[in-house]
Amino acid sequence: MDLINQDPLAPASPGLQASVLAGFSAIVGPENVLTGTAHRYAYCRDRLPYGLFRLRSHALPATLPAAIVSPASAEEIMAIVAYARQHRIALIPFGAGSGVLGGTIPLVGEVMVDLKRLNRIVEINPIDGTVTVQAGMNGMQFEQELERNGYTAGHLPQSIAMSTVGGWVACRGAGQASSRYGKIEDMVIGLKAVLPNGKALEVRPVARRAVGPSIKDLLVGSEGVLGFITEVTLRIWRKPEHSSAVVLAFKNIEDGFNALREVVQSELRPEVIRLYDAIESGQRTESMPEFVARPILCIMKFSGLKDLANVERALALSICARHDAVVAGNGPYEHWESSRFHSYSTKWQSEGYYMDTIEITGTWTRLHDMYAAMSEAAHAVHPDMYFGAHWSHIYPEGACQYMTLRLPPLPHDEAIRLHRLAWDRIETICLEMGGSVAHHHGAGLFRNAWVRQELNTGMDLLQILKDGLDPDNLINPGKLGLRQPAGSTWES
Ligand SMILES: Cc1cc2nc3c(=O)[nH]c(=O)nc-3n(C[C@H](O)[C@H](O)[C@H](O)COP(=O)(O)OP(=O)(O)OC[C@H]3O[C@@H](n4cnc5c(N)ncnc54)[C@H](O)[C@@H]3O)c2cc1C
Repeated sequence: MDLINQDPLAPASPGLQASVLAGFSAIVGPENVLTGTAHRYAYCRDRLPYGLFRLRSHALPATLPAAIVSPASAEEIMAIVAYARQHRIALIPFGAGSGVLGGTIPLVGEVMVDLKRLNRIVEINPIDGTVTVQAGMNGMQFEQELERNGYTAGHLPQSIAMSTVGGWVACRGAGQASSRYGKIEDMVIGLKAVLPNGKALEVRPVARRAVGPSIKDLLVGSEGVLGFITEVTLRIWRKPEHSSAVVLAFKNIEDGFNALREVVQSELRPEVIRLYDAIESGQRTESMPEFVARPILCIMKFSGLKDLANVERALALSICARHDAVVAGNGPYEHWESSRFHSYSTKWQSEGYYMDTIEITGTWTRLHDMYAAMSEAAHAVHPDMYFGAHWSHIYPEGACQYMTLRLPPLPHDEAIRLHRLAWDRIETICLEMGGSVAHHHGAGLFRNAWVRQELNTGMDLLQILKDGLDPDNLINPGKLGLRQPAGSTWES
């Protein structure tokens, strides 16, 4: 919905009267309900680049939220859901708004339920090696608190300082140490949630279970459409006593893929593995002689018990040497380490470029062909399209390909068309070549069309579940490929 010509002060959800909003104040206290225009603008988008492009052309991504409500407990969330169901008010669970696919964009003037007041560690259990944490806790504060106690969660996304633990779980996220510790779904062992029907759900934290399909995994990756995750129990690890990094230069991407595949298939678990294509390598290795004949950059970090980490390092390096890699100076590692949690530069956006990132998963048999086809497709969309890629989540059967695309400054409507076209070409190639259209950013709103294709009949299962729990489509409607809310004009 283009609101550029609409009165921004008009209520986003015309049916939502002040008297109805007052009901939320009774639950969370008036100081925890925001209805001012500036606040509503602040919550009208997440970090979806398309949303930013829209704002740059003086249009909202979709609508303004009606209000922002900040509960402090699962009980208050249950009361909010009950009240919203009674008055047919749509709600959106909101962590920190760092999602990049539009998962928190209000489509019909929803009420945002900001979860950041659920912000404490409930318990660290050193015997079980687990932590129980409220879902709205800031990621960096969470990790720092664990480290003060001698542990790490091993989940270190670039956005750690601007995201919440619940957001990680809701988006099925991945951190920079995923090659060692796994993705968030490998770490969550139990959780609590408030379902769209208002009922509390508890998945008890246990080592393993055989009680039917995993209810836990219905919530992990549910992006708010199946309710509010309020508490999570995660595996934690002793903070590594030792770590060391190495920078390698490969002759080409195929050698890099073959080496990394062999490393992980040999059951070695470097904490960090990063391989860059020639474009991204070039930006990080300028004037380094090792990269003249071997232009492909790879970074690895080994950590844990010192003896074990050293053995893993030696074995991994011997594998890489067999694939013709040489060890290079540590500069690219140090640069990465010092900026690993920075947000990407706003330079390109502020100078009128159209920049976005797409992460997909492919298997080793197809990955190199996927890369070549996607690079070609991006350049076919526009000859001056920037396209660079790296692989930093490495698994025995394949890897995540993380691509940066950047269109030059163009007339806005043309840029929006080409941006969408580039996404479509890349996601379609991914589907045709047997990949997954999303590795860790989730589906949100922007990926709806391709998620439906990937899930095929599985989409029907999700919709049946959604309809059963949320017949009025009130909890984050229109996301994750599910049915749009009445009145939404979002096209997907
Ligand atoms: C610069 C940058 C770097 C990034 N790097 C990474 C990265 O390395 N790895 C990675 O995985 N992601 C990354 N992201 C994406 C983003 O940070 C993650 O998706 C993150 O998990 C979102 O968390 P959040 O708390 O901000 O969630 P939000 O953006 O607030 O919400 C995202 C979705 O989850 C739902 N949600 C949030 N909290 C809850 C809850 N408690 N219960 C139910 N639903 C909920 C929302 O409704 C929405 O659908 C990056 C983003 C940026 C901008």
